[in-house]
Amino acid sequence: MAIVITNGTYYICLNENGKHRKTVDINKAIQYDSIKQAKGYLWSHQDNKTQGYYIYDTEKERVIWKQVVRRKHRSAVTREMLYKQYNGRCQLCGKKLTLDDMTLDHVVPLNLGGADELENIQIVCYACNQLKNNILPEDFLNRVTNVFMYQMEKKCKHNLQWKCIKRLLKTLG
Ligand SMILES: [Zn+2]
Repeated sequence: MAIVITNGTYYICLNENGKHRKTVDINKAIQYDSIKQAKGYLWSHQDNKTQGYYIYDTEKERVIWKQVVRRKHRSAVTREMLYKQYNGRCQLCGKKLTLDDMTLDHVVPLNLGGADELENIQIVCYACNQLKNNILPEDFLNRVTNVFMYQMEKKCKHNLQWKCIKRLLKTLG
């Protein structure tokens, strides 16, 4: 068994003084003998440094255990405050929302180490929330742009207007 703790980019390893730190080199990662042992580490280090970290089996190449991130409950007052702060618009597609159909979105997803704090929360519509699901803001934009470009290309390949728009987008991008 080869069990390591990772967040997909960094691995937990030991430095010269025997202290825990992170590394991108999987060969330096601490290898745990059992899931229990790795869990023990995560339980005793539940802070910002291990947020988003999970237990990974390098032989089977799969995630074997993930921390459950507890989300703070947001009161009606907080929701209303956020609604006003963002003028009641979905921060991804711009759609006008009602207090009832707005959902809260972590700008940097919790699973990727984002904080469960108000500074990391924006309001989005349900459809965008589903679409974004655990993607970083920059990656989300890239993905949406790629989808848009590809679909337009398929639809309007021989359309002159599209050719002009495409050229314009290229000069911008
Ligand atoms: Zn939206």
